[in-house]
Amino acid sequence: MLAVASHDSVVALSAATVTFRIAVIPGDGVGPEVTAEALRVLRCVADADKAVDFEFKFFEWGTAHYRAHGEMMPADGLAILREFDAILLGAVGAPDVKDYITLRQLLIRIRFGFHQYVNLRPVRLFPGVQSPVRTASPATVNMTFVRENSEGEYAGSGERLFRGTNREVALQTAVFSRAGTDLVVRWAFDRARADGASLTSVSKGNALEYSGGLWDDVVDEIAGQYPDVTVKRLLVDAAAMLMVVAPERFEVVVGSNLYADILTDLGAALMGSIGLGASANINPEREFPSMFEPIHGSAPDIAGQGIANPLGAIWSAALMLGHLGQAEWETTIVDAVAAFLASGEGRSHDLGGKASTSDVGKAVCAELSRHDPQAVSRRAPV
Ligand code: NAD
Ligand code: MN
Repeated sequence: MLAVASHDSVVALSAATVTFRIAVIPGDGVGPEVTAEALRVLRCVADADKAVDFEFKFFEWGTAHYRAHGEMMPADGLAILREFDAILLGAVGAPDVKDYITLRQLLIRIRFGFHQYVNLRPVRLFPGVQSPVRTASPATVNMTFVRENSEGEYAGSGERLFRGTNREVALQTAVFSRAGTDLVVRWAFDRARADGASLTSVSKGNALEYSGGLWDDVVDEIAGQYPDVTVKRLLVDAAAMLMVVAPERFEVVVGSNLYADILTDLGAALMGSIGLGASANINPEREFPSMFEPIHGSAPDIAGQGIANPLGAIWSAALMLGHLGQAEWETTIVDAVAAFLASGEGRSHDLGGKASTSDVGKAVCAELSRHDPQAVSRRAPV
């Protein structure tokens, strides 16, 4: 009896479908265009894997919402999003709305409000993609950036005194807490340990004695608890230079909100296009949903033309699957992106091709369908 019962329950388990509830915020400019392709790839995953399904709910928040309602998202937006397993975001920003409004009222509100204090940004050069930098090769460019995502210069602490007069003074206070620095640095050490990688800490402790000093002290203290992880300490200006002349020195990299924001656009340049950059805004405690988005913005200069590269958005969706316990699908999607790029065919304009945004999404789905279906059915459901 017992054996039969357990046999039955195994059968029931393997037939079960887990449905992930995803909040989708396509946003502005190319955001909706690239998000559509990320969703296309996720639907291809659901078609291929009977154990996985998605329920997408769309939120038309962004600058159009702002023009109509005076706010980028509703006042109870966070309470609405909280019910979801994850958030998929395109990009926000429009030339006629101040960027600090779009950033602060939507992106930062979600990142800070949901304590997504880790912003994970992988940087790698895919075989077959031409980097503008001669030192870059698939062997030398393989970095995992861990960007502090809840404080620093982005904390929103400041003032503009005597606004509009010639006595005007702007104050933008960088906020570095010991608790916040400790959380992200520890997460980065764990990641380096898990990857068997070195950890590079990027700071500016020479000029910024208070904030940089605290950051460096925390790194030193935590380093003592991870004797197996090789730690490298770099000043951010030297880090920018070394990322170009010796990219192989960087494996896992941890930096403050502003420094790692800037350095990962440099990383995108190493990769061959900003259109390839992916990111995960993670709340490691899983108290709140995490948010996944390409690192690029709304690209108003190419919006509406259907030519944006959706691979950063697709890679971000893959990171989302990894976060949702579908690590094999994360790898499979990234492998499909790599195979697509290695073929050299059907690339978008930023990579020197002529393909449309949806052509690229369809090509990644076609690569996915070449994936061994046996390998998919062997996977255990979560
Ligand atoms: P951007 O990333 O939008 O564009 C920079 C350059 O890269 C442009 O030439 C653009 O055409 C190109 N580009 C960007 N994404 C591309 C893609 N997927 N495929 C091909 N080319 C691509 O940065 P920006 O011009 O500095 O900012 C534009 C707007 O986006 C601003 O309003 C800014 O505030 C906002 N922004 C939003 C986010 C976000 O939503 N996370 C991030 C950065 C900037
Ligand atoms: Mn940025």
